[in-house]
Order: sequence, then structure tokens, then C-alpha cells
Amino acid sequence: RLETDLRHAILGSAKSLNFNGLESQEILSLETAQPQSLNQSILPLLPSQNNCIDPTEFVVYYQPIVKLPTAKVVGFEALVRWIHPTRGLVSPGEFIPLAEETGLIIPLGSWILKQACQQLTIWQQSYDQVWEKQDIQNGAVPPLTMSVNLSSQQVVQSNLLETIDQILAETNCNPHCLKLEITESIIMKNFQTSVVVLDELRNRGIQLSIDDFGTGYSSLSYLHQFPINTLKVDQSFVRRLQPKTFNSLEKSSQQIQIIRAIVTLAHNLDLDVIAEGIETDEQRQLLQELDCEMGQGYLFSKPLNPEQATQFLLNS
Ligand code: C2E
Ligand code: MG
Ligand code: MG
Ligand code: MG
Repeated sequence: RLETDLRHAILGSAKSLNFNGLESQEILSLETAQPQSLNQSILPLLPSQNNCIDPTEFVVYYQPIVKLPTAKVVGFEALVRWIHPTRGLVSPGEFIPLAEETGLIIPLGSWILKQACQQLTIWQQSYDQVWEKQDIQNGAVPPLTMSVNLSSQQVVQSNLLETIDQILAETNCNPHCLKLEITESIIMKNFQTSVVVLDELRNRGIQLSIDDFGTGYSSLSYLHQFPINTLKVDQSFVRRLQPKTFNSLEKSSQQIQIIRAIVTLAHNLDLDVIAEGIETDEQRQLLQELDCEMGQGYLFSKPLNPEQATQFLLNS
């Protein structure tokens, strides 16, 4: 049942992409894969006013990523939510695996990427007054990055690069400001393809992050084989930094040592580090002492809808 709902919701959202070529073939195959007629299966879920369906049951939320010493926003991570007609907000933890299994992640992933790139362009064009002119002059890369999660299926998607090129062009998004997040497990599962795809992404100037770093069963030797920019310390490590970890006698606690090792490894490889899931000021302080330069977590902000995220950006 959830799968049928997901199929419809994604079909609606993917159609709003208005892609031609390969993408519309995918959309078409989604439609033909549907056993019943679209209307029949979606009608029971809708309020019975008219036959007018709002196809977009997804919304992309944005969680700020901040510099640790200043808490200044340096980017956002796009995190999708499904507004189910009867079940309410369904978390990505629940439906991304289903979308992966069914292949629906391909059109959904394209839709999310397009939303995120569009939003980034809007922010960069409309709110450039919130950044100091200096910031822009100092580096070739305009401030504010947009991080988007890539799924396993997308990495092996045959037209991933064309799709990304098309989205970047259509949304007028600077590739240097896009950061794609991929987990170690995805890389390990598709090693050969990942090497090629990630190289191609870097050739376009797109930045790459390893998400949930430290949780995959992987050898570290892959790190230097991939053109990565950033390691994201998994939130499970940050969560284990509990207040008792902080008294000076326990400064050498295992939890601290693990994070210290990740930060040192990253810096030795010339990578940035983002700590995920920072919820307390003690955690922030400790991570800062450990030289972790960026953070993300409820302490700074939960994922926000586009309006709230815009407000957050203007206030930061
Ligand atoms: P992730 O990419 O590691 O994203 C971070 C998750 O941690 C998000 O959960 C975020 O809301 C949550 N989080 C952030 N700060 C805190 C904190 O301080 N405390 C706690 N407890 N949690 C925090 P979310 O949005 O539910 O997403 C879960 C996972 O689903 C993501 O993990 C990612 O793997 C996947 N996902 C989400 N959106 C997308 C998407 O657009 N595409 C793909 N392929 N996967 C997505
Ligand atoms: Mg992520
Ligand atoms: Mg993560
Ligand atoms: Mg994750």
C-alpha cells in the first residue's frame, strides 16, 4: 500500500520536473508499471472535492550547516519529507529504503536535486546582501553550499551525470556550490562505478562529502582514491559525547579519541570535517576544541521548510 502511494506521489513530483528525453522515459515507465489506472488507485486517498490532484506530496527541508566558532551559516543540507495524504509526515528513514528498492529513488532523487539547486540559486541571487562583499571577493566560490544526499541507486544510474548537468543548467546553479553526500557503504557496494562517477562529478567542480563517516564497514584506503572534500562525522559519535565525558579526568575517553582520530585523519588528507547531530553546547565546545570546523544539529537548527530556512539565513 505504501509502495503504491509512494509511486503516485513520486510520479506527480517527477512530472513537475518537465524533463524531456531520458527522464520522461523513466516517468513513463513508472506510469506503465502501475497496474491499476492512476486515478483509480489515488482517488480513495484524496479529499473528495474534485479530480484536481496536487501531485507534489514531497517537500524538501533544509538544515543549516554552520562554522563552529561563529555559528555562521555556511550551507544547508537538503532533507526530503513526504507529506502523505492520510499518514501525515513520513520520515525519509521510512520511505527512502522503499524508494531505493523499487527504483523510485531515481525520479525522486532528480526532483529533490532540482528543488535544492533552485533554492540555492534563489538564495544566492536574492540575499547576496547578507554576505560581506569581502567573502565573495576572497574566494572564487560564492558563499553558501547546498548538500544533497545521493542514494546507492543514483550512483549506478546510467544517466546520473546528464541529469545533474541538466538540473544545474536549468536552475542556473553554480556546480562549485553543490555538495553531494554519499556514504562509505554506497562507495564500497559500487566501488568501480563510484570511482568513475565521483571523478566525473569533481571534474564538474561539484564537491563531495562522505556521510555518516565511521559507520560503514570499510577500509580507510578508499579515502585517497576518491576526490572527496569533506568527512561528516556520524551523529552516533557525537551523541555519545555525554556530559560525563567532559570532566577533565575523562578527557581521554574513547569517544573523544574516536572523534579526534577522525578529525586528524581528515585534516591530514586535506579534508574538512562536519560533525552531525550536535544537540548541546558542551558537544559544540568539545568538537570545536577538537578542531572540527563545521557542525550541524538541533543546537543550531532542526531541518526547516524553505520559508523558515530563508528566515534563518537572513537572521544569521
Ligand atoms: P543524513 O543524510 O545523515 O541526514 C542527517 C539526519 O540527521 C537527518 O534526518 C536530520 O534531520 C537528522 N539530524 C540532524 N541534526 C540532528 C540532531 O541534532 N539530532 C538528531 N537526533 N538528529 C539530527 P532525516 O531528515 O530524518 O534523514 C535521515 C536520513 O535519510 C538521512 O541521513 C539520509 O540518509 C536520508 N535522506 C534524507 N533526505 C534524503 C534525500 O533527499 N535523498 C536521499 N537519498 N536520502 C535522504
Ligand atoms: Mg546527509
Ligand atoms: Mg549523516
Ligand atoms: Mg544517514
